[in-house]
Amino acid sequence: MQQIQFIDLKTQQQVIKNQVNEAISRVLEHGQYILGPEVSELESKLCDYTGAKYTVTCANGTDALKLLLMANNVRVNDAVFVPSFTFAATAEVVSHLKATPIFIDICEDTFNMCPKSLESGILHAKQIGLNPKGIIPVDLFGLPADYPTIQEIANMHNLWILADSAQSFGGAINNHKVGSLAPMSATSFFPAKPLGCYGDGGAIFVNSEELDSKLRSLRMHGASPTDRYDHIHIGINSRLDSMQAAVLLEKLKIFDIELEKRKKIAKFYLDNLDQTKFKLPFEPKGFKSGWGLFTIICQDQIDREKLLNYLKEQQIPATVYYRKPMHKQPIYQNCPSATNNLPISEKLANKVVSIPMHPYLTDEQIEYIVTKLNKF
Ligand SMILES: *Cc1c(COP(=O)(O)O)cnc(C)c1O
Repeated sequence: MQQIQFIDLKTQQQVIKNQVNEAISRVLEHGQYILGPEVSELESKLCDYTGAKYTVTCANGTDALKLLLMANNVRVNDAVFVPSFTFAATAEVVSHLKATPIFIDICEDTFNMCPKSLESGILHAKQIGLNPKGIIPVDLFGLPADYPTIQEIANMHNLWILADSAQSFGGAINNHKVGSLAPMSATSFFPAKPLGCYGDGGAIFVNSEELDSKLRSLRMHGASPTDRYDHIHIGINSRLDSMQAAVLLEKLKIFDIELEKRKKIAKFYLDNLDQTKFKLPFEPKGFKSGWGLFTIICQDQIDREKLLNYLKEQQIPATVYYRKPMHKQPIYQNCPSATNNLPISEKLANKVVSIPMHPYLTDEQIEYIVTKLNKF
């Protein structure tokens, strides 16, 4: 049996090697390295794929979030609600704009923002004199957050929603794809994400023409649409390279085939892993995960650190996302949280394990992984 990879970019590279080489040579020939024709083509293909009205690409997923906060004039004294159980970038961008991230707990069965905790968070923000501005739900491990419920809460309090869909490209709710689940979404093309390039990259999906035009200006030093040396906003430099767009166009062509393979592997794990030992991820009715990662929760009798050692001995790569929720991180621990403790985030940080998930796992490999896990 071939060595199992946690995420296998090498095998994927073999599949698309010739197409990628040709696509890169075309960029070398035309020489428009930044925002070249591949970038506009990719933006239009991403609109087709996601159902979003407008797509604005940028340098990475973190900038995608940041540009959206800038476009919404987020500033000091504003409160933005983010789940505590996420990657640092979700909260970091809020702090960059001198606003305050308020940490919200998650639901145990979906890993995503808990609507009840969100309501406590909004109340708390008002009590401490902050101005509630918006919500950044995260589609953790590939499963879309509960946008329908969160949208109702947002409407009640006049807040906007920005989806952090960095891990969920390909996911959906009732046949609406990630990118069109919220009025504003951000995704990442970091190599290990479901749709990754060969470097850094990101994209923003919006449904308003006004936002689209402001974001295009903000990603290019606030330039005016008609004269790039006329500056109408304080922007940043955050653009997608033509080479990365060329790679992404080739990867997008095989994305649905890869997504089907991920779904099949997820189904095999769900059907065969021993649920007396591991609590398994769950898709609420109508929700479809993009299966960016496959994360199991150790039941109480399972010692996670022993399990991780055992998996290493069996040559099964496994990782913990995330060992520390954001409200326990040294630099963020003084930021407000919805409640004194965020019990689910704290509990899951000690119990989660992500196991190999990529389209090129063989039947033999997933059978081996399941057998070894069930034997522990
Ligand atoms: C990866 C990730 C980001 C940031 O994306 P980059 O492209 O690495 O900047 C933001 N949020 C979440 C949840 C992520 O997983």
